[in-house]
Amino acid sequence: MKSLKILFLTLALLAGALLEAKPRVHIIATGGTIAGVAASASSSAYVAGQVGIQTLIDAVPQILDLAEISGEQLVNIGSQDMNDEVWLRLAKRINEILASDRYDAVIVTHGTDTMEETAYFLNLTVKSAKPVILVGAMRPSNAISADGPVNLYNAVAAAVTPQSQGKGVIVCMNNQLLDAKTVIKTHTINSDSFEGGPFGIIGYVHDGRAHYLQAPLNRHTVNSEFDVSNLTEFPKVGIVYGYANASPLPMKAFVEAGFDGVVLAGVGDGNFYKDVFDAAVEAQKQGVQIVRSSRCPTGPTCLNGEVDDSRYHFAASLDLNPQKARILLMLALTRTRDWRQIQKYFEEY
Ligand code: GLU
Repeated sequence: MKSLKILFLTLALLAGALLEAKPRVHIIATGGTIAGVAASASSSAYVAGQVGIQTLIDAVPQILDLAEISGEQLVNIGSQDMNDEVWLRLAKRINEILASDRYDAVIVTHGTDTMEETAYFLNLTVKSAKPVILVGAMRPSNAISADGPVNLYNAVAAAVTPQSQGKGVIVCMNNQLLDAKTVIKTHTINSDSFEGGPFGIIGYVHDGRAHYLQAPLNRHTVNSEFDVSNLTEFPKVGIVYGYANASPLPMKAFVEAGFDGVVLAGVGDGNFYKDVFDAAVEAQKQGVQIVRSSRCPTGPTCLNGEVDDSRYHFAASLDLNPQKARILLMLALTRTRDWRQIQKYFEEY
């Protein structure tokens, strides 16, 4: 009888401990302004990627009320230096962490310049429904009113909110939650730089909890067919910018350098200047996949709009901006060279 009592007591204690156990959130630090140090608290001159992961965690002890926190430093760079090699390491590492029962969510601290690209890349290559939150800062860690600490606190809050699961990779900046496909950096210096354009935010964080208003409908994470687990490099894809009287030289240079694809940041609905158009037709004939996108910050680039894509076998990026279209084309070319299939990817992802 006594031993039965002890057994029940032990089980009750264990159950209590389990109920009280906080979610386990792993932070992968990559650098950026959130880890940047300015010459002085009021200076705009600073160097990104100076402060290590433990300093970031120690600066916001309140996150320990929300979660059990662990961290690692993957790289410490300004995100203008983000590259394929780091992306591959990051995606593989996140997949490894989230496959383990020991972790419930991952946060990636990141520079803001290319945060939207990394978010979209991970959205296509992470194989888990557990939350993956990207966070950064527009002001260096020692600036007056640095936004890094509150952004990190909000990111942890989002990571532990159950509704964050299955929403794909999320960007958490300035109290707002944005989805990886539509998020754009819209301002060079303001702390409210991140927006979803006409698609808006998907949610917000308030008082240590995420609240959602909508969920992304495109394919992502567990529903994505793109797999980087065996990749060591990507097909080469460049971007050509459109403007009045544009030179065809960049397009020709990409073809000569053996690139596999080129995205056009075209004018209006993804239109080319005539010399660039001729170079693009020639590139496509030589097997370099052309995807038309637009330098307009909002609105789709439509298939067979002013350009007869079906005739030239160009693809249209639809709602993806040029920098994200480049990522989808890069991953698409790991699976197919068929322009129709590539167009289908642009419809689905
Ligand atoms: N250029 C740096 C970066 O993207 C600083 C910008 C920022 O993080 O806000 O990492």
